[in-house]
Amino acid sequence: MSALNDAIVAFRDTEYPQLKGKAYLDHAGSQLPAASFITAFASDLNTTLYGNPHSTSTPSHLAGARVDAIRARTLAFFNASPEDYDLVFVANATAAIRLVGECFRDHALRARKHAFWYAHHRDAHNSLIGIREFATEHHCFGDKDVEAWLSNPATKPSAAKPALFAYPGQSNMTGRRLPLDWPVRIRATYGNNAYTLLDAAALATTAPLNIDAIAPDFACVSFYKIFGYPDLGALIVRKASADILRHRTYFAGGTVDVVVSDPDTWHVKRKTLHEALEEGTVAFRSIVALGHALDTHKRLYGSMEAVSTHTAALTRGMHAALAGLRHGNGQPMVWIHNEATAMPGDAKTQGATVAFNVLHGDGTLVPYGDVEREADARGVYVRSGGMCNPGGVQKYLGWNGKAMKMVLKAGHGCATPIQVHEGKATGVVRASLGACSVQADVDALVKFLRSQYLEKAASTTTIYIATGAEAELESVSEMNEKATMGKVKRPVGWAKRVMGLAGIH
Ligand SMILES: *Cc1c(COP(=O)(O)O)cnc(C)c1O
Repeated sequence: MSALNDAIVAFRDTEYPQLKGKAYLDHAGSQLPAASFITAFASDLNTTLYGNPHSTSTPSHLAGARVDAIRARTLAFFNASPEDYDLVFVANATAAIRLVGECFRDHALRARKHAFWYAHHRDAHNSLIGIREFATEHHCFGDKDVEAWLSNPATKPSAAKPALFAYPGQSNMTGRRLPLDWPVRIRATYGNNAYTLLDAAALATTAPLNIDAIAPDFACVSFYKIFGYPDLGALIVRKASADILRHRTYFAGGTVDVVVSDPDTWHVKRKTLHEALEEGTVAFRSIVALGHALDTHKRLYGSMEAVSTHTAALTRGMHAALAGLRHGNGQPMVWIHNEATAMPGDAKTQGATVAFNVLHGDGTLVPYGDVEREADARGVYVRSGGMCNPGGVQKYLGWNGKAMKMVLKAGHGCATPIQVHEGKATGVVRASLGACSVQADVDALVKFLRSQYLEKAASTTTIYIATGAEAELESVSEMNEKATMGKVKRPVGWAKRVMGLAGIH
């Protein structure tokens, strides 16, 4: 383990007292704010008079100057040079995504003949997929589709029909990291009317973001996912690609220089991009908090590179430990979902997340929500469900649209999940690490899984039913299903029987 790991072990009780006795493994949901960060922020608010930055009084001016300085520091944190990039503060990553989508829609709506082509990657979060509702044409691309689209330019985007490709730098479900050379390659292939929106919300949690090198047209992040607080997000915009965002039709306090409302109606938008897009009062106290988050993060962790190295090492161990869990009959206890190209421990291809389902000794599923609930009762906190990631659920759990509709009909939904339907899971368990994670967190998860789900060696007094093997296998799968749904208990020697019948030894 790294030197950083020792440092974290030493400061964890004082910086993260809320973690005492608990194993928090939902860092992909939110990181945690360090105690010294919150103390510094509280003390700043208690001693400094900040006013609404849209006024000119001394307190307002002070707040405005702080916001400007922190905007610049945040760009530097993401390696985005201020000559080439601007940063727009928004509520969260989703708000940044929606803003981009709405600007493209407005661009298409302004002139009747305008249209907008959209594609998102299959690994996308729902917040990216939603943009398709604004587009005049949309597609869902897997890796191969992206490569095909890049190697064999089919359509020529134009000013009247620009193209937008959106993808996550890291899957929020599996933690798989996607290629970061796509933005440059898309620009090289399709020119300036093709844009890339990099959803860095998951990637930026445990990896440095080098915006200058990746050169996306747009990128979004949520700061609570990096620092635990503030609940604030940003849209990073390449200035050379910013014009299309100026097509936004809505204006608000803060985004206009002059508005005339009666009897004439006209308005003039503000010139600087972030001024033209930050609607209403910017979240100035949250931005002040962000300044302290940057300071504390640097003091505790040094850099995002160090966080990346630390979490990659822990993830490699977590992945290996989970993959190694076996029932007494030798069957795996954990079914991990990911692309074959994603290598835990390699920060380029895999983040600090593992998505999996727990299996019984006979290979049937333990319902994912039960795992979350049972873990919770033991002070081990993971997330379970579809993760707002329908592409991942469809691909790894074997669903198509038609089958999904059937589960929906049967009553499945985000808030009322049918966890297993016809032997297939509708969601996964996700364990994710962050900057402040330590080996003990991983150990607690592995210990919980082993003690809760390990089925010891199957009984040697296996009962084979003497009827035809095929008929038996049929009734076995029927029973399997009932058992999965909790309707019957599995008999002793069940797993062995199923394996024997299926010809597995
Ligand atoms: C969390 C997440 C989002 C949504 O972020 P919000 O802060 O909820 O807006 C979008 N994409 C990815 C990849 C995420 O991990």
